[in-house]
Amino acid sequence: MAYISLKNINKIYPNGYHAVHDFNLDIEKGEFIVFVGPSGCGKSTTLRMIAGLEDISNGDFLINGKRANELGPREREVAMVFQSYALYPQMTVFDNIAFGLTLQGVDEDVIEQKVKATAAILGLTDYLDRLPRALSGGQRQRVAIGRAIIRKVGIFLMDEPLSNLDAKQRVTMRSEIAQIHRETHATTIYVTHDQTEAMTLADRIVVMKEGYVQQIGTPYELYYNPVNVFVAGFIGEPPMNFIRGKVEKGLIRFGKNELNVGKLLGGKAKAYEGKELVFGFRPESIELGAKPDAVQIKATVELTEMLGDNTNVYVTADEDKAILKVDPHDTPELDSELVFSIPEKNVYLFDGETEAVIK
Ligand code: ADP
Repeated sequence: MAYISLKNINKIYPNGYHAVHDFNLDIEKGEFIVFVGPSGCGKSTTLRMIAGLEDISNGDFLINGKRANELGPREREVAMVFQSYALYPQMTVFDNIAFGLTLQGVDEDVIEQKVKATAAILGLTDYLDRLPRALSGGQRQRVAIGRAIIRKVGIFLMDEPLSNLDAKQRVTMRSEIAQIHRETHATTIYVTHDQTEAMTLADRIVVMKEGYVQQIGTPYELYYNPVNVFVAGFIGEPPMNFIRGKVEKGLIRFGKNELNVGKLLGGKAKAYEGKELVFGFRPESIELGAKPDAVQIKATVELTEMLGDNTNVYVTADEDKAILKVDPHDTPELDSELVFSIPEKNVYLFDGETEAVIK
């Protein structure tokens, strides 16, 4: 039996807006689940329904197999961390972390011991006497996390907890959150619009778009076996390249190129004759030059970005654009013409109409 189950969960706001459609997910104890998707896709709404901060319009929410739709936030044993840290400005770090336990009337000695243990996990031991305004953004966020984890609740919910931090602090805090999870094994549901955060933190990722779950899987599954164009384009940075075209005599033609999709489609080639197809490949899965058993594309170099360990090469072929990741030592000249090869095993084909992957 799963620890938490969401069965056909829907959210229809009072104004009639249907924000979440038939959300289904089973979560095991100790799992780190990330909801990811563009702004407005229903991630926070789903998290807030799990927290008990928002009514569930339809469907069943179960904790340990028992229906929990009607339970209030306290009875659900959840702790939530928001993007605004919501610390009490006039209280020290110690008192902020202790707050929930103080409210519950927990013994002072016990509180002191728990606050110290929590502060040690979070690297806040030397800051316990400070007020929040004398902390960096990352430290404040750690206090907010400390306040949540000290309660030892079953379910730990985080809504974009890193979005108020600068880029460097985000990377540091991200690895700290991973470390805290390794130490606490708290079942965690984490909302972000950032695919890198999702990839680095999650045991499993739920990709959402416009209120619908697109795919649920491990970071590896989503990266290598995306079910549709949306997931393929959302997971990965730079994103997957797509070339859209109509199949004529087994070929998609653009610029000076003919992609032999008929060969790649094999037995399905006939069914796609005359139809739109999306041809996808990841920036890093190419080789410069013309290679055997590969799809070859001729293109013009528009821009190069040397990033140290690789160079992003922006190319165009007729109307189509792509980004190629190449070894900096092989960086091509601006405005030059080049040929690159995509090994056939690295090509993704999607139905142009449904955008679903063609297996
Ligand atoms: P995300 O967290 O993915 O950015 P949200 O869950 O916050 O998205 O919002 C999903 C959709 O629901 C958005 O289109 C948003 O405008 C809408 N929405 C959020 N709250 C309300 C509300 N109280 N009433 C009506 N619509 C809402």
